[in-house]
Amino acid sequence: MVTASLPGTLSPARRASDLAELARSDVDVVVVGGGVTGAGVALDAATRGLSVILLERTDLAAGTSRWSSKLVHGGLRYLAHGEIGLARESARERAVLMGATAPHLVRRLPFLVPDVAGRDVTALAAAGGRLGDAVRLSVPGGRGSLPSTRRVSPDEVSRLVPGVRPGRGGVVFWDGQLVDDARLVVGLARTAAAYGARILTGAAVTAVDGADVHVRVDDEAFVLGAGVVVNATGCGRSGWRRPSGWCPRAGRTWSCPAPRSARRRPR
Ligand SMILES: Cc1cc2nc3c(=O)[nH]c(=O)nc-3n(C[C@H](O)[C@H](O)[C@H](O)COP(=O)(O)OP(=O)(O)OC[C@H]3O[C@@H](n4cnc5c(N)ncnc54)[C@H](O)[C@@H]3O)c2cc1C
Repeated sequence: MVTASLPGTLSPARRASDLAELARSDVDVVVVGGGVTGAGVALDAATRGLSVILLERTDLAAGTSRWSSKLVHGGLRYLAHGEIGLARESARERAVLMGATAPHLVRRLPFLVPDVAGRDVTALAAAGGRLGDAVRLSVPGGRGSLPSTRRVSPDEVSRLVPGVRPGRGGVVFWDGQLVDDARLVVGLARTAAAYGARILTGAAVTAVDGADVHVRVDDEAFVLGAGVVVNATGCGRSGWRRPSGWCPRAGRTWSCPAPRSARRRPR
């Protein structure tokens, strides 16, 4: 049976055609690493009309992006450190994921803190939850994304968690939870592919030298040209040499603008 290929399909046929073009590629952006950061960067760049290749040495979401706690948190831990701006950014991203881009992958997750650990613990949880609510209500789309923090009765605690010692109330606050973190990465990568990004798994970057990216795919070595290289290899061992002059970006992502003279080479 022959099936039509959808725009974001990451099929063996698409991999073969992307691979055939790899050796003579000269692209705007090369992204190294196919975790949530790399897939997100590839999607962002592709939707801006840039030509993009994402190179992942094993498979999409092979790193920490598949082993997270699956929380799409609204920045409670940032609030604890007084980082209000970061907390607002998290709350806004959570609202976008829940309301627009991935409502099929992110659901509401309640947390119950029963009074059994002491009322001061519950009071702290309530204060944190209400601060989180205030931040959530201050961002676009935040209002409807989650229920508000509230005290619950002893009966409700027993109903929610029958194993908890009866006769005590508690506090319930809410956050977002990913059904499956790897599916989010695959969804981002497929959407990037639908916008024209080439997503190559089984492609290990061995070195970056100016505008040249050295990559090994299926035991064959290739060199491709890049306007910018984004290192999204996470916190694991990337196994490649980082050139000098790399500019730190948010978190662990680094990018390397290639020397202007080396950017556009004849094919
Ligand atoms: C235990 C744990 C729990 C967490 N819980 C949460 C949570 O609940 N919520 C949350 O938001 N965050 C959570 N995080 C953080 C989150 O998982 C990370 O921030 C995120 O996965 C980082 O993604 P990444 O794409 O930067 O890195 P990764 O997912 O590690 O991706 C890096 C990719 O680069 C590839 N790569 C490496 N070297 C090369 C090379 N030379 N060539 C080609 N490809 C290469 C790897 O194979 C890998 O696929 C958690 C982290 C951990 C460890």
